[in-house]
Amino acid sequence: MLYLGCHLSASEGNLAMVNTARSIGANTFAFFTRNPRGSKAKPEDPADCAAAVSALKDHRFGKLVAHGSYTMNLCTADPDARAFAAQILCDDLRRMAAIPGYFYNFHPGCHVGQGTETGISQIADAMKQALAPEYPVTVLLETMAGKGSEIGGTFEQLRAILDAVGSYHLGVCLDTCHVWDGGYDIVNDLDGVLDEFDRIVGLDRLCALHLNDSKNQRSSHKDRHECIGQGNLGLDTFRRIVNHPVLSKLPMILETPTDLSGYQEEISMLRSLEQA
Ligand code: FE
Ligand code: FE
Ligand code: ZN
Repeated sequence: MLYLGCHLSASEGNLAMVNTARSIGANTFAFFTRNPRGSKAKPEDPADCAAAVSALKDHRFGKLVAHGSYTMNLCTADPDARAFAAQILCDDLRRMAAIPGYFYNFHPGCHVGQGTETGISQIADAMKQALAPEYPVTVLLETMAGKGSEIGGTFEQLRAILDAVGSYHLGVCLDTCHVWDGGYDIVNDLDGVLDEFDRIVGLDRLCALHLNDSKNQRSSHKDRHECIGQGNLGLDTFRRIVNHPVLSKLPMILETPTDLSGYQEEISMLRSLEQA
């Protein structure tokens, strides 16, 4: 059984997201913990959270993958802005406790000229401040395309952040468009890329996937998503992914440039690629 879903709008409420997901054949989903381009979070609603938790269980959903705001840059150069970003991470993780057991994924950040090493240590510092061992959430770093000063474009950088943070519940969310744009050849050598991931990060850290085709060539460092099968990754790559013994068990989130009915079609197409 594949766990497939897409990004839904948290403003409709938690239970409503579960119902929307079911209406398009999804059995997991992602949502932004606050406005993706801003910092405002919705007020908490414990009754809605409880109703969502029981609906997720009744309908056997896979783990959800919440997404931190794009504007949260833990390694920005201005110390006040950096402290504010760290504060947002703290607040997001505290809120995630309302829906226990799910993933919280975020973009590690852009070092904006400070250098990769400084960026990595600033990201790790913020994470150490925000993570509390009692939080029932696994925090995931997203693999990035390496656009501009983005950190997380190589497996080595992700490993360095994990090492610097230490022993919390941490993992990685692999974005198929990002790793391809970052230079990893998942089209011709998916197993080779996964072996490399295993050597450097460890496959036990791989917790979720973002399924996106790419508008660009490998190593373009561009990060432009395309609909499944319509870009340079192609349908065969996704066929291999949904039939892969390790990958097929992970929650798979679509972030393709389409709408809800487009997601419904992509989900059913991906399910049809799974060999019985
Ligand atoms: Fe992302
Ligand atoms: Fe992504
Ligand atoms: Zn992207």
